[in-house]
Amino acid sequence: MPQLASRLDNVKVSASAAMTDKARELRAQGVQIISLSSGEPDFPTPPHAIEAAHQAALAGDTKYPAQPGTAALRAAVQRKFKRENNLDYALDEILIANGGKQIIFNALLATCNPGDEVVIPAPGWITYADIALLAEATPVPVPCPENNHFKLRADDLDAAITPKTKWLILNFPNNPTGAACTRSEMQAIADVMLKHPHVWILTDDIYEHLTYDGFEFCTIAEVEPKLKDRVLTVNGASKAYAMTGWRVGYCGGPKQLIAAMNNVHGQATGGICTLSQAAAVAVLDGSQDLLKERADVYRERRDLVVRFLNAIPGITCHTPEGAFYVFPNIAGCIGKTTERGRRIESDTDFVSALLEEQHVATVQGSAYGMSPYVRISYATDAETLKEGCRRISSFCAGLR
Ligand code: PLP
Repeated sequence: MPQLASRLDNVKVSASAAMTDKARELRAQGVQIISLSSGEPDFPTPPHAIEAAHQAALAGDTKYPAQPGTAALRAAVQRKFKRENNLDYALDEILIANGGKQIIFNALLATCNPGDEVVIPAPGWITYADIALLAEATPVPVPCPENNHFKLRADDLDAAITPKTKWLILNFPNNPTGAACTRSEMQAIADVMLKHPHVWILTDDIYEHLTYDGFEFCTIAEVEPKLKDRVLTVNGASKAYAMTGWRVGYCGGPKQLIAAMNNVHGQATGGICTLSQAAAVAVLDGSQDLLKERADVYRERRDLVVRFLNAIPGITCHTPEGAFYVFPNIAGCIGKTTERGRRIESDTDFVSALLEEQHVATVQGSAYGMSPYVRISYATDAETLKEGCRRISSFCAGLR
């Protein structure tokens, strides 16, 4: 076979996708799997989004879209940034792409040269590092330890920045820990970044609407307006509106950066599906009541899972501020042996044995850059969560 590109050598299949595939395989064999591995809301897409897409199709909105996004969606995004984040973006400072993922891809491809560094708080969504590698840049993880509630310390961030740093990527509320930053914690990060004017900042705010107990989300360009001309504020319809399959991501940022990203975008895809864009306009401009209703449900589930997990010997679970993940510490299970005789040397061993012996799918913390932890998604119904926790409990009870 002719050779593949060496830039793919270090890019891995995502661990959560690998776990979902393994669970699917077992399911196909007739095994009843409890899936706590997927980062996808279990709620349906709001009906008014579906109706808007339907009407757009009937009205003939089925031709090539404007490459940076339809005028209607960019205007809706402009209103969203103003209404919810107090950020002013002109229409040519806004880009629509196929999910937040493609926004991040466009940004790094448009800006990174070989040898550039991308600072990524760890644990973090593995895709950031993989996209950096595809852009021939070097990911630089900065640990956000559990004893700091999985948040980024200003001193650690400062120490990670070098003359080669091109980007800092922020993601709070965070995948996989659920940690979110208060305004003063974000200001401390911003103060560090004011000292490093050569660095762009990408804030992935995809979990913005998933915070609990009155926690107030904030985003860095709003907290520190002096940084706004270096910040790319990224968001999307997937998590807030349960629209993962529609593939709508959007961002606001400085005009030159957006133009460069649009260049990458235009070569990779001719813009995103017009019907998805019509649906996104409907949810951004429509009633936002469902966000609060769904957040209340997620909070109940979070509390249920945290309570269950903390009652299991060998596991401790921090209560996160947001997203729909918990990231329990499983240090107390390491070095033990399962009922079926498997030795647990790592979190990868833990999740594999848990899947094979109790048929519960989770993702190992090492996939996000921190061990020994497990990512558990609570984007599923309470009964499934209870059953999943019961099985984890009996798995741990069997460890010797
Ligand atoms: N950002 C984070 C932190 C995520 O966890 C995910 C999905 O899991 C995304 C972005 C991707 O979102 P989208 O569906 O908009 O590509």
